[in-house]
Amino acid sequence: MTPTMEELSTATDHERVVFCRDPAAGYRGVIAIHSTVAGPAVGGTRLWTYTSEEEAVTDALRLSRGMTYKNAMAGLPLGGGKSVILHDLQDGDGMDREALLLAHGRFIERLGGRYVAGEDVGTSLADMAVIRRETSHVAGVAGDPSPRTARGVVRAMLAAALHRWGSDGLAGRTVAIQGCGHVGFHLARELQESGAGLVVTDLDPERVRRVVAATGARAVEPDEIFDVAADVFAPCALGAILNSGTVPRLRVAIVTGAANNQLREPEDGERLRERNILYVPDYVANAGGVIFGCSEVLGWSEEAVNERVEKIYTTVLEVLRLADQQDEPPHVAADRLVERHLKALQGGVSRWK
Ligand code: NAD
Repeated sequence: MTPTMEELSTATDHERVVFCRDPAAGYRGVIAIHSTVAGPAVGGTRLWTYTSEEEAVTDALRLSRGMTYKNAMAGLPLGGGKSVILHDLQDGDGMDREALLLAHGRFIERLGGRYVAGEDVGTSLADMAVIRRETSHVAGVAGDPSPRTARGVVRAMLAAALHRWGSDGLAGRTVAIQGCGHVGFHLARELQESGAGLVVTDLDPERVRRVVAATGARAVEPDEIFDVAADVFAPCALGAILNSGTVPRLRVAIVTGAANNQLREPEDGERLRERNILYVPDYVANAGGVIFGCSEVLGWSEEAVNERVEKIYTTVLEVLRLADQQDEPPHVAADRLVERHLKALQGGVSRWK
């Protein structure tokens, strides 16, 4: 059942949730700031057709909390936020996109830098340029993040291999990749260069052909990818693909990939553990993109970005070792690490409070 607005506002640990309205612009939006303990809350702006305002708020609350964890785990001096612009279905194509974006920018500006927007589902880099006309609090347009995301996933895979097999080489190992899009393509190339064998799939045959041509991977049908006998499964398509239907089918030792929210529910992390499959929590492995995307906001050089992406290796090892020590699944250990980090930061005073 969808929670009421009252339930939503009392059952959350968010610092601030702003309901925004500008009737003249036909604009309704929500800006959710989960945490500014580590720094300004960074997270994308979604423009989406929600069935209700409650659904939009739930999305903003859930996604902004996720950004706090992802940014903190990546070692970024940034907090977590997210915003949504509600796109009424009945407005159809008649909506004045520019007016909505400008109104959203004015609300972001009023938050004085506590929230920094970025591109997200339903918004583009061009939209960010429009928002920028009203506020400077927009994450920079650094370019395509997917090569850095792919690099981070490789680093996560190497760390998981070391943890699992005592050696981090991937030569001779087989990796099954679901999704041959932006990240999947770069990941396949890097893995092929490391000497790994590849099995790939995608709903789009053209994307599969491109990866096969570039790497010599073996292609399988989309539904077959869960049954492939391989060393590693790398989900690089959609979320929620690790669930009660797919986990029992997996024939791999490690799961690590780029997709967000891979576990349909927390119990799926437990299911993987019961099957002795080592899962690297998605937000630890796929942080390369956010590190790259925030580099302009942070004033980081390319060298600093690359260093931070390489460090995903040591972060993954830390998470996996903690999980072993605590005898708990890695996704639980990852959350625990972040919470410890934020608590330590809270000992000092956030400059945003
Ligand atoms: P993309 O849209 O370029 O590629 C996704 C691919 O998955 C598409 O080619 C699509 O056809 C395919 N796909 C969808 N459903 C599928 C299915 N059931 N079976 C097989 N293939 C399927 O996206 P991307 O930028 O490569 O990102 C991949 C995933 O990683 C997404 O979940 C994204 O949210 C996440 N992610 C991406 C980045 C980044 O830097 N691009 C950063 C962090 C997380």
